[in-house]
Amino acid sequence: MTLYTCQQARDGKFIVSKLDDEMNVDGYYTLTKTGPSMTCTCASHRPYCKHMDILKAMIQRNAVNTGTFYDLDNDVWYPPIGEGVL
Ligand SMILES: [Zn+2]
Repeated sequence: MTLYTCQQARDGKFIVSKLDDEMNVDGYYTLTKTGPSMTCTCASHRPYCKHMDILKAMIQRNAVNTGTFYDLDNDVWYPPIGEGVL
């Protein structure tokens, strides 16, 4: 299972963090959102990557900066640590 969380930095960019099975951070992706268009550091020359889907889902759910976890593969959401049982 791979989980993602999302934070918005002071400069307005979004940081999507990827966590492994032991909840260790496995990678960071920085996304910039300008209106409906997004860019991601992993896709500098590609128009699309799955981190953009994650960010869209996070924004829709107001999950940015909340510590909410998203399991993209299974489309399952988990509450922040300390606020529920996985
Ligand atoms: Zn990406």
